[in-house]
Amino acid sequence: MTTTPDPAARRPDASVPAARDTEAPSAETLSDTPITAADPSGAPAPVSRATVALPGSGADRSRTRAELSRGTFDLLVVGGGILGTSVAWNAAQSGLRVAMVDAGDFAGATSSASSKLVHGGLRYLQTGNLKLVAENHRERRSLATTVAPHLVNPLPFLVPVYEGGPHGAAKMGAGVFLYSALSAFGDGMGRLLSPAQAARLAPGLRTEGLKSVAAYGDHQMNDSRMAIMTVRAAVDAGAVVLNHAEVVDLRRTGTRVTGAELRDRTDGTEFGVDARLVLNATGPWVDHLRRMEDPAAAPSVRLSKGAHLVLRTPEPWRAALTIPVDRHRVSFAIPWEGRLLLGTTDEEYTGDPAEVSVLPSDVEQILGEAELGIDAPYLDASHVDYAFAGLRVLPGGGGDTSAAKRETVVTQGRGGMLSVAGGKWTTYRHIGRTVLNELRKVRAVPLAEEMADPLRTVPLPGLASPDAVAQRILIDREPGARMEPPVARHLASHYGSLALDIAALIREDPALGERIHPDGPDVWAQVVFARDREWAVTVDDVLRRRTTVTVRGLETPGVRDRVQRLLTAPVPVTR
Ligand SMILES: Cc1cc2nc3c(=O)[nH]c(=O)nc-3n(C[C@H](O)[C@H](O)[C@H](O)COP(=O)(O)OP(=O)(O)OC[C@H]3O[C@@H](n4cnc5c(N)ncnc54)[C@H](O)[C@@H]3O)c2cc1C
Repeated sequence: MTTTPDPAARRPDASVPAARDTEAPSAETLSDTPITAADPSGAPAPVSRATVALPGSGADRSRTRAELSRGTFDLLVVGGGILGTSVAWNAAQSGLRVAMVDAGDFAGATSSASSKLVHGGLRYLQTGNLKLVAENHRERRSLATTVAPHLVNPLPFLVPVYEGGPHGAAKMGAGVFLYSALSAFGDGMGRLLSPAQAARLAPGLRTEGLKSVAAYGDHQMNDSRMAIMTVRAAVDAGAVVLNHAEVVDLRRTGTRVTGAELRDRTDGTEFGVDARLVLNATGPWVDHLRRMEDPAAAPSVRLSKGAHLVLRTPEPWRAALTIPVDRHRVSFAIPWEGRLLLGTTDEEYTGDPAEVSVLPSDVEQILGEAELGIDAPYLDASHVDYAFAGLRVLPGGGGDTSAAKRETVVTQGRGGMLSVAGGKWTTYRHIGRTVLNELRKVRAVPLAEEMADPLRTVPLPGLASPDAVAQRILIDREPGARMEPPVARHLASHYGSLALDIAALIREDPALGERIHPDGPDVWAQVVFARDREWAVTVDDVLRRRTTVTVRGLETPGVRDRVQRLLTAPVPVTR
């Protein structure tokens, strides 16, 4: 099922088109370009050990298929990106019996291809939509302070103002002040910095012609890890979930959609799910599913491609750059997972969502736009470790995609299926609640009478101070056992207190504490955890979305081979 990337496609430079992730050809929107590093010397073959598996993970798939086929669910969510997961989480919390399925991996498409920002949206100030910015800020701060402080990190952002640039210093200074005022200065006051102050935070900043730098605060995350933690929250609330299970047709009772026919992509098993209501949360495929309901359904959305590059830098950055490209567009350079994330592009896309890919022209554009604010030697294409692309879902209509509103569209089809698409990662909880309210209004299915009000704020699993967890892990380690501080910090900031479960695996089997690649902080115990507790089925599920091996450019054929063996060899103990 998995393939080793073509070595010729490792560097996304102008002469080499990026290879797409070949693992789930008909459902992955990502065009991931793994760039193979040197094989880690001496990495131990991990021991296959068993842990208690969560339903739906590992060998428990057949049991989950049986559970999905049992009785009638109140709600079937098709699509396990962040929107579908949020609705499943909310609906399960309100007492409904909820199923969620995804054709590929959870968050395997758009939801792991974002710019990783949890933000108010500085650019919305320009459209005068202060209410939207204030709402986004509120949600951003809730995520960062109460829902997921273990996964969402504060980050200073710098906007360089150059001679002859699209914005003046006074305007940018006023802009960042207003931006911070709209979040009641919760992350400090937006202000102007000198070029020297800014260069200390962002060492590659181009200082030639630099007049001033406007600074403001936002947050960032690892989107695929945050999504997996949200899937876990939905399961904790009672949802039944299965990834790599594609909806191939809809079930009907009379004219109403009352379920779906599915195909398990791991082994071809066909099964079905009955549900009183079906929600289509398939992101870029939203119209594909709407046409399953009604072949005459007109297009409801259009797609815009956004590509990113992950760049190696000689030293760490402590702030992100928001680089004005013109009066409307910005390009980001964001320190992320020990690398610098550059992007993104914004171009109408009319092809098959499964075929979206990073093209040489995207690489050229991203590096060219980054060069407006970053010194050219930093931006050598040979420093690009990884590249990926995803698709924004925008409301239908004409005009420039960069000017289109990032709105959430909720519609109901002729067969009663609800469809949701668009919106921001940052506001996913809000979107989940909005869709839940729409479910209450569906007259044909009186769900409202059976729904309790979900709690307003429920934290994601693992809620804890990452510093405290890292400290605990380091104190708790067995004498002689290897757990270096960067590894402990990495586990704590990607799993919260669940990192203690990973540390326990390592205590029982010290070989699992070895790094997967010597240049990255991920360890083999995460692979076992991903398999047994996080629904990882394929090598890319593990290396690209549960750990940071691929995005750091540290994937090698040897690593892929060992992960594959760990995924297939053991038979986890189920509960
Ligand atoms: C380039 C880019 C950058 C972005 N940056 C940010 C940012 O920094 N901050 C922010 O707040 N937002 C950002 N966004 C927006 C955010 O990423 C999206 O709003 C969000 O990820 C959409 O999630 P989704 O669940 O609707 O779609 P998806 O994540 O695409 O999920 C849809 C799922 O449906 C599944 N599916 C499709 N067909 C079927 C089928 N037949 N059966 C079963 N499953 C199926 C797919 O496999 C997929 O997993 C960005 C978006 C893009 C494209």
